[in-house]
Amino acid sequence: MFQDQLRNKVRPFIDLIDEMRNLDIENELSLPAIVVVGDQSSGKSSVLEVLSGVSLPRGTGIVTRCPLILRLCNDESNAWKAVISYSDEEIEFTEPENVMNYVQQAQDALAGEGDGISDELITLKITSSVVCDLTLIDLPGIARVAMPGQPENIGEQIKTLILNYISKEETIILVVVPCNVDIATTEALKMAQQVDPEGARTLAILTKPDLIDPGAEKIVLDIVHNRTIPLKLGYVIVKCRGQRQIDENISIADAIEDENNFFERHIYFRSLGDKITINHLSTKLTKTLVDHIKKSLPKMSENIKDHLEDVRMKISKLKPGPPQDPAEKRRHLTQIITLFNEKIIQMSKGDTVFQENLFVLMRKEFKDWMECLKNSKSNYNQEVHRVVEEFDLKHRRNELPGFNNFSVFQNVVQNLLNTLQDPAIMTLHNITDMFQEQFHALSKNTFEGYPFLQQFSKIAQNYNSHNPDSFTLILYTCSHPVHI
Ligand code: GDP
Ligand code: MG
Repeated sequence: MFQDQLRNKVRPFIDLIDEMRNLDIENELSLPAIVVVGDQSSGKSSVLEVLSGVSLPRGTGIVTRCPLILRLCNDESNAWKAVISYSDEEIEFTEPENVMNYVQQAQDALAGEGDGISDELITLKITSSVVCDLTLIDLPGIARVAMPGQPENIGEQIKTLILNYISKEETIILVVVPCNVDIATTEALKMAQQVDPEGARTLAILTKPDLIDPGAEKIVLDIVHNRTIPLKLGYVIVKCRGQRQIDENISIADAIEDENNFFERHIYFRSLGDKITINHLSTKLTKTLVDHIKKSLPKMSENIKDHLEDVRMKISKLKPGPPQDPAEKRRHLTQIITLFNEKIIQMSKGDTVFQENLFVLMRKEFKDWMECLKNSKSNYNQEVHRVVEEFDLKHRRNELPGFNNFSVFQNVVQNLLNTLQDPAIMTLHNITDMFQEQFHALSKNTFEGYPFLQQFSKIAQNYNSHNPDSFTLILYTCSHPVHI
């Protein structure tokens, strides 16, 4: 009964955020989330396993290689079910023992089969009667040194990925720290302190309480009572399956039972109330997440309103789209293209001026070209005189002076043509560029809102400029000479 009431109170909030996450809006709007971080082998997977009730990939090295969104949905009326989705894949399955394989398969697809990591998301939704309503994001564990075959900077890559998530104000940082290490030196807690110095949105889970050195229990008690590194959301100690229990195939349900016995018998920890056990942790996480969502809702609503306003502004600037009816659509398309053709013809005649007057621009080019021709004329006379004199001097036989061989003159003309080639090609290029620029600008202007037509006219224009014979625009202008 109490569970039902709790579910009715929390599920709608968690569902709302999950649905928003499904819409892929996280680039524009940060969503409240619990993100799990910890050093390698701190016990992250073990905690997630007991929370979700299923075995996740485990082993040495980097096991979690992509962010994994673990959506836990409590549903007492239906059998166990899971859906894993990543890229364009979505696979539904009903056997809990397959979770590990599917997660591994997804990681291989996104991050390759080696030890690489990726920032692409995998979503695993588990519906079961034994889970609490909760959504968690599991991130790769912080690695200190690269293993053989891993990129040198793997540690940096993982830290960047983690910081990306935990630096957002909307994220609750769930730091997993083993009880049997000096917690102040753990990389995960240091990173959390870096982005949340007040400890306002950090909750720490202390794992492996069964491995504490006898005599060190008081240190752990000080931590749990918030006397060492104060965190507003506090600390919870949990005991998960040790390696031996895993090797012996102790079930997760039995491990929870074992945890209860462990704490009941523990002289230092048994009176810690809601600061111990997986059960308390899961209730606390759900409550923390829902409180956090409730707190974030007004700000999210403001953000959405701002975005909406932005989008409305953009929409209002857009022209109405093409008609839906196929016949109307065709007419509409013909109209736009005809309009474009008319504008091109008008522009090429100089009837309308788009950007700058093409004829004014071209006149300047032709003037330069004319200048070039004129200069070459004086060169030509000088060159002919020089060649004729040289021939007379060196090669003349019984011809009259000045009556040289035809090939001598041909040579002179050829040399002159060679000197004119470069300026001629440059003039052609300048004029082609001018046309292309205006053509492109006109197409952009006329086909605004029709990127395909813009693209198409660009391709057609490029084709034409490489086949000058068919470059209608130039042809047209050539048949309407520009008067200098
Ligand atoms: P992760 O790398 O952070 O995901 O760490 P794992 O969950 O894979 O745990 C690393 C090792 O610590 C495994 O061998 C676990 O069995 C062991 N472990 C995790 N939690 C506990 C615990 O509470 N007690 C004991 N004794 N071992 C634990
Ligand atoms: Mg792990």
